[in-house]
Amino acid sequence: MNARPKKSFGQHFLHEKRYIERIVSSIAPKESDTVVEIGPGEGALTLPLLAVAKKMTAIELDTDLIPGLQQRAATVGDLRIVHSDVLKVDFAALARELGAERLRIAGNLPYYISSPILFHCVEHAAAIQDMHFMLQKEVVDRMAAEPGSKVYGRLSVMLQLACTVTPLFTVPPGAFRPPPKVDSAVVRLVPLPPERLPQGDPAKIHAVVKAAFAMRRKTLSNTLKGLVDEASIRSLGIDPRARAETLAPADFVKLANVM
Ligand code: SAM
Repeated sequence: MNARPKKSFGQHFLHEKRYIERIVSSIAPKESDTVVEIGPGEGALTLPLLAVAKKMTAIELDTDLIPGLQQRAATVGDLRIVHSDVLKVDFAALARELGAERLRIAGNLPYYISSPILFHCVEHAAAIQDMHFMLQKEVVDRMAAEPGSKVYGRLSVMLQLACTVTPLFTVPPGAFRPPPKVDSAVVRLVPLPPERLPQGDPAKIHAVVKAAFAMRRKTLSNTLKGLVDEASIRSLGIDPRARAETLAPADFVKLANVM
């Protein structure tokens, strides 16, 4: 234990027991679940999760942490550590390999790549039962934001089109070693069932959302120039003079479908 945390890997190790317990009880793992942890670090969450799940997989990029974690886990359960960048892990292939229909993913994420990890998971949402992540509180606020909110944006729309987003609780900097500069929060993401997923081309939806929020203060007719013309925007019952932040996630799907 007590390896020197590496800033470059976004290492902030959770040490406060009550938050560890709260996260584990929010996940409520069962022995029949296929739990996959992203960034196990020294095992703050891994060991209590493993104690209940008995068998789990953890994906860790920092080689130096792996032998210690393997050793500590040995008496607790069957831990398989995948040494990889999580962004290179194909969760659908991993689920097949583990013989699971869908994975339960958890992690106190490395904050320097939290958005790429979220987008990566959303791409593999069909292979995922649920996700419980610790992130910067500001990111969780953006993920769960509703139209009209100052922090409603690309992350809110893209995540809410794929999952239900439920913020669970806040965690103060002092719960980590070393303490991060910001408050953190735990969030639950549950991928939507196929019948509630947007009917449209994901690449087009991505393009519309990205363009619409690229300049928040500009109107849709401006930001979507070259993608969707004014008449088409109006034909959907959407005011071309409106700003992206006033549209519901489903409106972006409609816009993508007339692109
Ligand atoms: N779960 C531990 C805890 O709660 O104390 C550690 C959390 S720490 C915030 C983030 C962990 O993610 C570190 O162990 C770090 O080495 C690992 N990590 C960083 N980048 C990663 C990546 N691209 N893929 C997988 N793990 C990564």
